[in-house]
Amino acid sequence: MKTITVTSEIIRKIYRPAGSTDHKGTRGDALIIGGSYGKIGAVSLSAKAALKSGCGLVTAYVPKCGYDSLQASIPEVMVVTDINRLTITNIQLPIKPQAIGIGPGMGQEAKTKTAFYKFLKTNEIPLVIDADGLNMLSSLPKSRAFLTPGTILTPHPKELERLLGKRDTRELLVEEAIAFSKRYEVVMVLKGAPTRIVDGDTVYENTTGNAALATAGSGDVLTGIITSLRAQGYLPVDAAVLGVYLHGLTADIALPETGTESFIASDIISTLGKAFL
Ligand code: AMP
Ligand code: MG
Repeated sequence: MKTITVTSEIIRKIYRPAGSTDHKGTRGDALIIGGSYGKIGAVSLSAKAALKSGCGLVTAYVPKCGYDSLQASIPEVMVVTDINRLTITNIQLPIKPQAIGIGPGMGQEAKTKTAFYKFLKTNEIPLVIDADGLNMLSSLPKSRAFLTPGTILTPHPKELERLLGKRDTRELLVEEAIAFSKRYEVVMVLKGAPTRIVDGDTVYENTTGNAALATAGSGDVLTGIITSLRAQGYLPVDAAVLGVYLHGLTADIALPETGTESFIASDIISTLGKAFL
């Protein structure tokens, strides 16, 4: 195992500023799939974070019940709906984005699981899997066979335990995650304090962020940021390392103003501009 501490120098080498001749069609086209009745906000946070991380175009795929609120709350985001009203039951994509983030607020109903499984089997677009997407991956172990190399998984500690099928010390879980990353050729973002990004035998240790990030929707925002970077052409490990660093940096920047208690996931999104500077 090789451990790399993520410094600002490493980030400067990864980060590519937008070009002066870019247009929205060349700045990345991302899709966020998720949401269920009462959890459309997770997709809303993710999609808005994707836009605020430099993507030219962002679409949300949600059950029908999410349509009105998404269109009203984020006019910049396009919305495509599932045939079903309350949960996703059949993922039919009329578009071909450059990266997809799947899982926030998605729930795990039987029909959603079937749709998720079918989607994994046929999808060839770069993928970020989070939240209920990870939980469904855990409850359907054979679905792992369909993980495409370069997929990014972003588990928090409980999701990681479910995925690996065991509880253990953080150090041993990192060892297990390395084995998982090598076996399926995926990048794993082990969220926590600090967050570690596992890419085969290499483990990147993030240096930004604080306890203010321990708030509802924080992970959904991270999914949007990483999906956006992936859609902009960053390699999986670079998208994960840069995304985690910027996500944490927003909390460090905002802390003197908001304090830990009143910092919420929307503050991560509104501070992203300063983190990119
Ligand atoms: P989630 O549990 O999916 O909402 O993700 C929570 C996000 O907040 C992850 O990116 C965590 O790394 C981050 N986070 C949570 N608690 C802390 C903490 N105490 N210090 C730093 N980052 C944290
Ligand atoms: Mg989460």
